[in-house]
Amino acid sequence: MTAITYGKWDISGKSGQSHSRLLTRRRFIGLGVGMGIGRFAGRWAWAESAKADPQAKPYRPDFPLVDCHVHLDNSTIDQVAALSQKLGVRFGIVEHAGAKENRYPKVLSTDQELQEYLDMLAGKGVYRAVQAEWIDWASCFSPAMLAKLDYVLMDAMTFPGRDGRRVKLWEKDAPERVDMSDPERFMDRFVDWHVKLISEQPIDLLGNTSWLPPPLANRYAELWTPERVRRVAQTAVRYGVAMEISASYHLPKLGFLKIAKECGVRFAFGTNGRYPNMGRLDYCLQMTEALQLSQADMFRPGQDRRKKG
Ligand SMILES: [Zn+2]
Repeated sequence: MTAITYGKWDISGKSGQSHSRLLTRRRFIGLGVGMGIGRFAGRWAWAESAKADPQAKPYRPDFPLVDCHVHLDNSTIDQVAALSQKLGVRFGIVEHAGAKENRYPKVLSTDQELQEYLDMLAGKGVYRAVQAEWIDWASCFSPAMLAKLDYVLMDAMTFPGRDGRRVKLWEKDAPERVDMSDPERFMDRFVDWHVKLISEQPIDLLGNTSWLPPPLANRYAELWTPERVRRVAQTAVRYGVAMEISASYHLPKLGFLKIAKECGVRFAFGTNGRYPNMGRLDYCLQMTEALQLSQADMFRPGQDRRKKG
């Protein structure tokens, strides 16, 4: 049987069978060419070990590929669903959800808006989820409506400013509104913020894990100390919250992920992609191979909803 590949990864095993429901082998082959995977061969450092042992079996994920962090901005569900078929990667759609005070192209704020969103995604072969915004988001919806979601994703990138109001840490005015002058102090507060969100919010998946604001990003290895990583990871395990490996940000880095895996964290893949930049999971698969992740390490959308209360 000819191997079915996603880039350099052989997924013709268990996950390949699952994907074969989504697309034909010809499409898979087209994907490998279309993504230009060949030109990356040998470029990544982790590929060195594979080169050293030519007899080594190619790594084969034993789980289906899912991009859990897909936004519909500037595209339709039909365009996105067609791309999912083409790539052989199932998508989890996450519209922003919370109070209208959150500024995004679209924010779901009521049960009715959430129901219309769920109806729009029904039968499209995608997971139906939301990206929760700020700490008051859940009060916008009834528990019965939230229970209809396959999962809830949230990130820690919106952070309380000096005045206690929400600040998007990626925006230009963030360094004026949030004190980052002492990076160590900021990190302690940032870790506390992660712990607060994970322990208090009814979420299933921490998105954009380990992302740092631009002024601190080049100090990642120094600021994400093993102690800080462990505190976030242990909280995630305790509260049943999985961590996203971000294909777009190339985060978390391997050192962070190793500690998280030791703690027993479950992982999910995500791109935070807008059309057509979703489903490209190369960084996630690099990390998966380096960590030898298997199905048991992975978050299962729709099955791993956090038990509330
Ligand atoms: Zn997002």
